[in-house]
Amino acid sequence: SPPLLEVRNLRKSFWIKTSPIAARHEELKAVNGVSFTLRPGRTLGLVGESGCGKSTTGKLIMKLLEADGGEILFEGRDLVPLSPGRLRPLRRQMQMIFQDPYSSLNPRMRVGEIIAEPLRIHGLARGEALRETVVELLGRVGLAPDHAQRYPHEFSGGQRQRIGIARALALQPRLMVADEPVSALDLSVQAQVVNLLQDLQRELNLTYLFIAHDLSLIEHISDEVAVMYLGTIVEHATAEALYLRPRHPYTEALLNAVPVADPARRGRYVPLKGEVPSPLAPPSGCTFHPRCPYARDICAQEAPPLSEKQPGHRAACHFSDEVGRLRTR
Ligand code: SF4
Ligand code: MG
Repeated sequence: SPPLLEVRNLRKSFWIKTSPIAARHEELKAVNGVSFTLRPGRTLGLVGESGCGKSTTGKLIMKLLEADGGEILFEGRDLVPLSPGRLRPLRRQMQMIFQDPYSSLNPRMRVGEIIAEPLRIHGLARGEALRETVVELLGRVGLAPDHAQRYPHEFSGGQRQRIGIARALALQPRLMVADEPVSALDLSVQAQVVNLLQDLQRELNLTYLFIAHDLSLIEHISDEVAVMYLGTIVEHATAEALYLRPRHPYTEALLNAVPVADPARRGRYVPLKGEVPSPLAPPSGCTFHPRCPYARDICAQEAPPLSEKQPGHRAACHFSDEVGRLRTR
């Protein structure tokens, strides 16, 4: 099937005031040429440490931020140049689930009103039909009809995230951008919410862009995984291929950082050295080189292009064939 979403060379910079005295602003390239396609009913997991540009990518696709350049094709139509009026009917088909279920719901509104609000704004339902839709949406996310009368503070984090999901579903979207939707929840609750998202995907043929900071969480939900580092995708493959044989040292390091259940293997954990460099002053050549155990002279000089190493498996590394020898997992 043709892609539901195609992102081409997406770019976004922020201008950061670095000195309180001089009127000096420095360019922070938050998203620096990101491209991928996503077919309907599929899930792309977008991972990387915080500050790598994954949330900004999600917000650009949702048009919560204006892109500096590139294209965002939704069913073949570029969203970037669209006026708000033209965007509106398309925008309905794309919804976002946020990380923090505590701050994303209006505390003064009843749950029923929170879920009904998008339907009312778009003039899609009112009266009894609206109430019935709210009850149906509550049921879809595993909440009882009488929860509509209650306020967000009466619910746990996991339940609040279910409310956020019900609200996002109200407009019958086709694409859901989920920005770390379970990161703020207890571990035991995380799996329940991920399972709910998977069930909803099957029932409603939803397409997900699922943003996360570690690879363990998205292993089972993702069909494909794209790994971001300092504003660019450094590896993109099917989940199966990426977990089986990563082709970028950063992916390998992230995989090694995933906690291993087997105590015998735990000792072989190879930590990722150093911090993510400031995106205001990214390293030369391959931006991962100061942290890379495979780095050689060329790495500090030449940026490796994101190129196909196997059919459907892209990586940006001069020595991707060597990756794998430091695997511990
Ligand atoms: Fe490491 Fe060099 Fe590959 Fe960059 S290009 S990831 S520094 S080996
Ligand atoms: Mg983020």
